[in-house]
Amino acid sequence: MLGDHLAMDLLNTEARNNGEVTEYWNSGNDVLRWLERCGVASALTARSVDLEELLAQGIALRTLARRLIVQRKEGQTGDINALNKYLHAYLSAPHLERNCGGNLVLTRTVHGEPIASLLGPVAEAVAQLLVEGDFTLVKQCEHPDCILWFYDRTKAHKRRWCSMASCGNRHKAAQFRKRSSGKTG
Ligand SMILES: [Zn+2]
Repeated sequence: MLGDHLAMDLLNTEARNNGEVTEYWNSGNDVLRWLERCGVASALTARSVDLEELLAQGIALRTLARRLIVQRKEGQTGDINALNKYLHAYLSAPHLERNCGGNLVLTRTVHGEPIASLLGPVAEAVAQLLVEGDFTLVKQCEHPDCILWFYDRTKAHKRRWCSMASCGNRHKAAQFRKRSSGKTG
């Protein structure tokens, strides 16, 4: 996950390439698979979920998160009430269990309605970012054709690209073309 923060990876489920927006969430199953990849969805909560509703609420949460994060980045105070609705619906309790090695681990067990339980940890990550995040490290890829976000955890805090392999290289190639055309022309 190249966002390096769950809230950033949420925004990155929508990308842009050659001026076209790519939507990675086209169905409730897409959302579910993403949640599983992020380690958020457990098989238990995912069993009997209304997939259409999950897609609708997931996209609404993403739109809301983007607005709040952009506003915060611009130094504005956003309307947090809508985010509180997701947070309040996320009912969970600390839960002790033994892992396969027999060691105690502290996890959380959910009690609420399935969709609220699935999206709750994501909403919490957005809230946590708004509260504790260093917004000078909340960055959007510098490539003009890219809209991906990341939390810059590099030591020097000089990360500029969503990924060096794609946008970093695209930039380097463009610089190289510019330089070599300058030489010949
Ligand atoms: Zn990029």
